[in-house]
Amino acid sequence: MAKEFDICVIGSGPGGYVAAIRASQLGFNTAIVEKRHLGGVCLNIGCIPTKALLRSAEVYENIEHAGNYGVEVKDYSADFGGIIDRSRNVANKMSKGVQFLMKANKIEVFEGKGVFESQDQIKVVDEDDETREQIKADKFIIATGARPRELPNIPIDGELVIDSEKAMKLEEQPEKLVIIGAGAIGVEFAYFYHTLGTEVTIVELEDSLVPVEDKDIGKELGKIYKKKGMDIRTGSTVEAVEEKGDGVEVTIKSGDKEEKVEADVVLSAVGVTGNVEGIGLDEIGVKYEKGAIGVDKETYQTSVENIYAIGDVAGPPWLAHKATHEGILCVENLAGEEVHPMNYNNIPGCTYCEPQIASVGYTEEQAKEEGYDVLVGKFPFSASGKATAYGHEEGFVKVVFDEKYGEWLGCHMIGANVTELIAEAVVARDLETTGHEIIHGVHPHPTLSESVMEAVAEAYKVGVHLGTQPSRK
Ligand code: FAD
Repeated sequence: MAKEFDICVIGSGPGGYVAAIRASQLGFNTAIVEKRHLGGVCLNIGCIPTKALLRSAEVYENIEHAGNYGVEVKDYSADFGGIIDRSRNVANKMSKGVQFLMKANKIEVFEGKGVFESQDQIKVVDEDDETREQIKADKFIIATGARPRELPNIPIDGELVIDSEKAMKLEEQPEKLVIIGAGAIGVEFAYFYHTLGTEVTIVELEDSLVPVEDKDIGKELGKIYKKKGMDIRTGSTVEAVEEKGDGVEVTIKSGDKEEKVEADVVLSAVGVTGNVEGIGLDEIGVKYEKGAIGVDKETYQTSVENIYAIGDVAGPPWLAHKATHEGILCVENLAGEEVHPMNYNNIPGCTYCEPQIASVGYTEEQAKEEGYDVLVGKFPFSASGKATAYGHEEGFVKVVFDEKYGEWLGCHMIGANVTELIAEAVVARDLETTGHEIIHGVHPHPTLSESVMEAVAEAYKVGVHLGTQPSRK
């Protein structure tokens, strides 16, 4: 007989497990179904383990440059296996944390794949498709996430061409790596492997790295990565990957030119697609398109009344904090709480390579396309006392304001620790703060956060540290 719940969440990533906790807090009898590991992609094979890898690379790079700080370090080396093990331990710890939270919140966890049998019942099946349980619920929240997208001509076979999961668990460090795609995942792995000594080639179809970011950010990262010694091929495509010796031969096309590059392995990092298949959506009439379930962006209701979808499976941006926020709003709405709808133009995006990248809102180009007359301010970290003392002077903060009403349209940063600075812009934009309030808000000295205020001051022509504003005398 089917077990009965008020709410059943399918998938336990940062969207699903948070939705389940909030549901339980609000008094719903809640179940969660997970076919692989609690915590989803984010905690197990996404955000968290990659940040652990990147931290190891940063530590290594700091030691490498210790001489710049007057510190002599002799005989250091990277233990690749140890770095991977640390990353796995961090991921496992976080996944166990979710297990604890499920128990603490009295959420029943079902191991297996959830498949709809009707709009108010699912079966939970094992790997052989044998039914373990049946669950009836008033409401279902689909939070099945996404998986790496594959290029039709470059299939991910796990040997010659690998995905991000394999790239974070390799047993041996490749000597040469070709990365297809210069989005966040591609450039993070590029930094990680390059720093540890792998020869990295990045192939990107668009004309700059991190193409969704403001053009100036992509240009700056390209410049820095080239200086670090990476081989950057923008405006290029990978036409073929063929086995050669113990590795691969990669055919790269740039304009009319084709070139062959040898490598140990290729990492395909060309985006993700939602997990909409094999869960009975067609059978019960849940509509989806191009790998994303269509939802109402305030309630997260799908085309079927009692079924909701959140996170990566409900479409872009494919980010953990977006999934979490949607999970909370979805459940609070179900509980009849007053809900503040999410502003999809105010979701920050962060990339944790070195230098880091963080942004929110319109790029300068998008703001102009939207018809705004813009005020732009830029403050380079080379003019920041803290960045100079810290030994990371590369990068800048760029802000974009609407000239007419002073709306903060966008904030774009590249530099050390900028992923910790972007929240100021997010909150300020949410509060509809103008640039003047940012300038009036006293920022602590010396901090990197001063650079945000300085960039705003530049936009309003009252900056004092760049020598760009003329004296009246
Ligand atoms: P997921 O985390 O994908 O979880 C979905 C879960 O559902 C999975 O555990 C899956 O096993 C389970 N599932 C699927 N189908 C079923 C079924 N039928 N029955 C039961 N269970 C099912 N985002 C950031 O914001 N910051 C980052 O730094 C970042 N780094 C990333 C690095 C990498 C390498 C990758 C791959 C992604 C990264 N992301 C990052 C993206 C982030 O991981 C996702 O946006 C986030 O995990 C989405 O959460 P979710 O809850 O929608 O789904």
